[in-house]
Amino acid sequence: MSFMHIHDIMDRDGRTISFEFFPPATDMAATTLETRLEQFAALKPSFVSVTYGGGGSTRARTHDLVLRLQSRGVLDPVPHLTCLCHGRSEIAQVLEQYAAVGIGNLLALRGDMPRESATGGSSDYQYAVDLVTHIVEFNGSGAHPGPRGFGIGVAGFPEGHADTPNQLVHMDHLKAKVDAGADWITTQLFADNSHFLDWRERCELRGIEVPIVAGIMPITSLATMKRMADLAAGMTFPAKLQRRLMRHQDDAASIEQIGIQWAVEQCNDLLDTGVSGIHFYTLNRSDATKRIFEALGAGTSADLR
Ligand SMILES: Cc1cc2nc3c(=O)[nH]c(=O)nc-3n(C[C@H](O)[C@H](O)[C@H](O)COP(=O)(O)OP(=O)(O)OC[C@H]3O[C@@H](n4cnc5c(N)ncnc54)[C@H](O)[C@@H]3O)c2cc1C
Repeated sequence: MSFMHIHDIMDRDGRTISFEFFPPATDMAATTLETRLEQFAALKPSFVSVTYGGGGSTRARTHDLVLRLQSRGVLDPVPHLTCLCHGRSEIAQVLEQYAAVGIGNLLALRGDMPRESATGGSSDYQYAVDLVTHIVEFNGSGAHPGPRGFGIGVAGFPEGHADTPNQLVHMDHLKAKVDAGADWITTQLFADNSHFLDWRERCELRGIEVPIVAGIMPITSLATMKRMADLAAGMTFPAKLQRRLMRHQDDAASIEQIGIQWAVEQCNDLLDTGVSGIHFYTLNRSDATKRIFEALGAGTSADLR
């Protein structure tokens, strides 16, 4: 069984370049993703992550895609796992299943309360830190085939998180996740690098020393932009970007070009300022990711390290 802990991946790559997929909901979407996996693989990412529907709504589909990727051995999958609305035994079962097939790393999240369940059902976990603690315990039990167990990633929010308007307190909560055993942080998507760079400095000041991977998602249409604003509550779209988009609002191809160009500018700036990694929210679309790589002059991820 071959697998790599995130520390090994980071030692190998220096800077990680990774992609996020979501588990396809239909057979047709699964076939489409299947055809794109080769294109994603050609870009040689450090790893790919697979989202997990809030409350476990995509548990089986996430698991299927993770296993499919793992069995091919080309793209190293990092499953997301959310803990809200889950019991400890359910989570233990998921951890055992992933350990059994040699998954090396997980992104440990709280998740949000599913819309259909106002009461949320019972949950043995309140916050992501509780899940991190559970995974650390699991790692300590020796149930994972690797000597260090699962590498653990957690979410970070450069523009804050709606549940905790007090940014100092929110930073304390991020520190608690790292102190509990998180190995790295992947950020929420952002379109204004100044927010990321200032927040990264604030993380340093708070004593957070794990690598911080920047989350980037290109705007490919005005509808995507609205979806991003929804997904990443509090996200700012700079006036400069909005002006560029407004000049071409009736031209879909130009909007996509501007969105990709903006993401390229963000990536170049992040690379120049020594980012530990870039995580592309791909929405399972390889074309936009490929165009960003081309504009960055990169044939593969290795050219961005
Ligand atoms: C990179 C990334 C990937 C994601 N992937 C998924 C996914 O696959 N599936 C999905 O459903 N969602 C996903 N999300 C969304 C995420 O689950 C939500 O944004 C959720 O609201 C916060 O998750 P968290 O893990 O940061 O939670 P937490 O770290 O638990 O934080 C949630 C809120 O609670 C506060 N808090 C934490 N600890 C305490 C405490 N002790 N007392 C009081 N307040 C506290 C925090 O400040 C924050 O406001 C992802 C987000 C990111 C950034």
